[in-house]
Amino acid sequence: MQELTASLIEAIGENPTREGLRDTPRRVADMFAELTEGYSMKPKEILAREWSEVSGMVVAKDIGFFSLCEHHLLPFYGKVHIGYIPSRAVVGLSKLVRLVDCYSKRLQLQERMTKQIADALNDTLHPHGVVVVCQARHLCMEMRGVKSGADIVTSEIRGQFERFETRNEFFNMLRKEV
Ligand SMILES: [Zn+2]
Repeated sequence: MQELTASLIEAIGENPTREGLRDTPRRVADMFAELTEGYSMKPKEILAREWSEVSGMVVAKDIGFFSLCEHHLLPFYGKVHIGYIPSRAVVGLSKLVRLVDCYSKRLQLQERMTKQIADALNDTLHPHGVVVVCQARHLCMEMRGVKSGADIVTSEIRGQFERFETRNEFFNMLRKEV
């Protein structure tokens, strides 16, 4: 990774041995290791069950994330909102944050990440329903190309959230100021 970064700097037309760039290959290698550590995280372990009597809808709002678009290796970042209706298993907020980390710290597509988070919750917790909404800005669209600053919103629904009333209850909870 360090050699590749030095070559990239050269290909850009810069001098990788000048003072300001001398340590850049090492920093970039460390950075990519950190930004892609999701590959070594295991969703099933993260969501190891906690049992509870709770039966109502659980909503986790505004889980921040940073990811890298797999087409340009530029960041896309924003918020993930998760709702689920537990059958038996409930997990704490910190586990939902780690689950989002697990899928965002990779080379990703927003649509796929949203689906993977919904599937992991659905397959591990077997809830009555899951909804995942992801809202993000893509630097590959803002710094270059179409230069659009629009937020991209993706969502995935499973189970009871297919029903309009249930989905509506979730969106009302998202809108509510805490
Ligand atoms: Zn891109």
